[in-house]
Amino acid sequence: MTTPLPRHDGTIALVTGANKGIGREVARQLAASGMTVLLGARSAERGQAAVAELIADGAGDVRFLHLDVTDEATVQAAAEAVERDFDGLHVLVNNAGISGISRVTHPSIADVTASDVRRAYETNVVGVIAVTQALLGPLCRARGRVVNMSSALGSFARVTGANGGAPSPHLLLPYSSAKAALNMVTVLYAKALSEAGVSVNAVSPGYVATDLNNQAGTRTVAEGARIVVDLATRPAGELPTGAFLSDSGDLPW
Ligand code: NAP
Repeated sequence: MTTPLPRHDGTIALVTGANKGIGREVARQLAASGMTVLLGARSAERGQAAVAELIADGAGDVRFLHLDVTDEATVQAAAEAVERDFDGLHVLVNNAGISGISRVTHPSIADVTASDVRRAYETNVVGVIAVTQALLGPLCRARGRVVNMSSALGSFARVTGANGGAPSPHLLLPYSSAKAALNMVTVLYAKALSEAGVSVNAVSPGYVATDLNNQAGTRTVAEGARIVVDLATRPAGELPTGAFLSDSGDLPW
């Protein structure tokens, strides 16, 4: 019996932090839609295991790409591999993220240290900038699309209740402030890259059961992946840029 060749339609997507959680599900769905998906992971062991599982499940053309978003050497090597192997990058999902806190060691905001915040910003903000910047060439050549994994917890309106809703009770200093910064990063890249035809949007997947929240979330990874896959696959003419979206519509900044 011969193994069927993976189907792919020439669309190249890179998902960071895709060895588990929402990123893995996004990688699975994009590959199932026909894209060639580069599954970024900081651990070769975890990344290759995820690729092997997805391929065994018939996901399509999924390839491991070693990428620690906080490690400039792996970011540069990953960008060089994309430049070498492909004409352009059509979809970049900046998904890798950390909460930067734990309920056990951070029972209150007074227990959060500057180094906790630095660590969260390194991954959730600086990491996104490092990866996006390193891939600008392939993204511009493909008139690509960037989807930044933000959070409703990064929304000033949601946290303060300024949109008329109940203010969020969560005071997650490293995480919320990093995602708020990521929202501004998204808007600035969207403005800067619009002439090159590259769209840049921020999304919130909702409260999804993953290791990030010790599986406490109420949504599935498939539900969390929905808005990302939507933006990655929508016809170009229907794509916003500089927006903050969930699968139920626009989110307030
Ligand atoms: P998760 O299951 O913990 O997945 C996070 C992924 O990011 C893992 O693959 C992790 O790799 C990777 N990662 C962490 N640091 C990295 C680094 N320096 N370089 C490369 N990869 C790194 O959590 P998730 O819920 O799926 O989170 C995915 C994204 O969604 C995050 O940006 C998160 O902030 C966002 N989000 C999640 C929720 C939710 O309710 N779950 C809500 C709003 C937003 P390792 O396995 O090596 O740690």
